[in-house]
Amino acid sequence: MLTIEKFSFGVGDRFAQQAKAQLKAFQILARDGVDVSPVWNKSNREHTFIGSEPQSVFDAAQEAVKTLNWKKPWHVDADHIRLETVDKYLASSDFFTIDVAESIGKRASAKDVKAFVQRHAELVGKLKIPGVGAPLATTRADVERMAGKYLLAAQEAGRIYNHIVAKKGKGKFIAEVSMDETDLPQTPPELLVILAALADEKVRVQTIAPKFTGRFNKGVDYVGNLAQFEQEFSDDLAVIAHAVSRYRLPASLKLSVHSGSDKFSLYPIIRRVLQRTGAGVHVKTAGTTWLEEIIGLAEAGGDGLALAKEIYTSARSHVDELCAPYASVIDIDMGKLPSAETVANWDGSQFANAVRHIPDHPDFNSSMRQLLHVSFKLAAKAGARYTELLKTNDHIVAKQVTQNLYIRHLKPLFVA
Ligand SMILES: [Zn+2]
Repeated sequence: MLTIEKFSFGVGDRFAQQAKAQLKAFQILARDGVDVSPVWNKSNREHTFIGSEPQSVFDAAQEAVKTLNWKKPWHVDADHIRLETVDKYLASSDFFTIDVAESIGKRASAKDVKAFVQRHAELVGKLKIPGVGAPLATTRADVERMAGKYLLAAQEAGRIYNHIVAKKGKGKFIAEVSMDETDLPQTPPELLVILAALADEKVRVQTIAPKFTGRFNKGVDYVGNLAQFEQEFSDDLAVIAHAVSRYRLPASLKLSVHSGSDKFSLYPIIRRVLQRTGAGVHVKTAGTTWLEEIIGLAEAGGDGLALAKEIYTSARSHVDELCAPYASVIDIDMGKLPSAETVANWDGSQFANAVRHIPDHPDFNSSMRQLLHVSFKLAAKAGARYTELLKTNDHIVAKQVTQNLYIRHLKPLFVA
C-alpha cells in the first residue's frame, strides 16, 4: 500500500515554475536531519482560474526531482476534489484530497443514522481516550446528532474513494478526507464519529483535515486563541490514535492542517505537540509561492518591478471581483491598501518589503499581501510576459522561494 510518510508538507506552485526552488528547501531541511516529503498541491479552483492542467504540476515536480537528484518520496495532491472533478487528476496524482464539506449537515437516511448508532454503542457514555484530558461524555442523542451531521459526508467520501480505487487500484494512492471549508470547526468527539463512519465506509484514509477553531486566512498568520488551538490539536491527535486501533484505520493516519499558509504562531505549537506525542503531520499551504515570485520580480527591478506594479494597479481596481471567491478566508482593510499612484513611486525593495511576510517589518502591509495573494489570475493574464520574466530573473526569484519555505516554514515547524 502506498503509505504517506510521517512528515509531509504541501506546497503550491501556481505557474509551475518553482518546483526546483521549493524542493531545494526540503533538501536543506534533510541536511538538518529531518525528512519531510514534499507534496505539490493545486486545487481544482486554482486550475480553473489559471487554465492549467493537472499534468503540469506532476511534470514540473518530476523535473525538479530529477534535476536535484531527490531520492526520497514526493507526491502530487489532487487538492479538494469531488466526484465531478476527480477524473482529470487520476493520471497525474497519487494523493487525493476528497472534499466532502458540502455534504456536512445534510442528513443521511434515517435508517442509516439509526444503524450507525446501533453499530457504535461504544461511542455512547464516558469515553476515556489516552491523551485527552477529560473523558468525552456523549449520550445516545449526541451520537445520533453527530451521525446526522456527518454520516452523509462519510458516505460521499466512500463513493469518491471507491471511484478512485476503481480507476487507480487499491493501495495505489493516498487518501485524505477534508472538511475544513465549512463554517464551524469539528470538535474531537465529532472527529471520532467521522473516523468511525469513514472506517465503516471502508475508506483507507491516511490524512484527515478537520476545520480548527480560529481564522486561517490566506497567506497571513493565524487569528485566534493559541491555547485553545493547542488543546484542540492535541485532542485531535489522541482521537486519531484511538480511532486507528479501535476501527483498524491505516497506522499512517495523521492530521492534515489546511493552513492557508503562513500560520507562524501555530508552528511552534505544532512542533511541540508532535515532539511530545510522536505523531506525524501533513501541513498544506496555499500557493503563496507565487507571492515570492512577485517579490522576486520587484527585487529584480526594471521590467520585473514594472510588471509587479502593473499587477497591483489592476488588483487595486478589481478588489471586489478578485476577493469574492475567497471572501471567507481573507480580511482586507481597504483603508490600508496603498493607492496605485503611491506604489508607482516605490522602488523594488519597498514593494518587496510590503509584501514579504515579515510581520514586524515596518513596511509590511498585510492587506496588500492578501490582495496580491488572490490576484494570481492577473499574472496568468499576463501570460508569457510573466513567465518569461520569471525565467530571466530566476536567480533572484528562486532565492525568495527557497528562503521563504525553509526559513519561515519548514525550519520553525520541524527544527526550531
Ligand atoms: Zn482546505
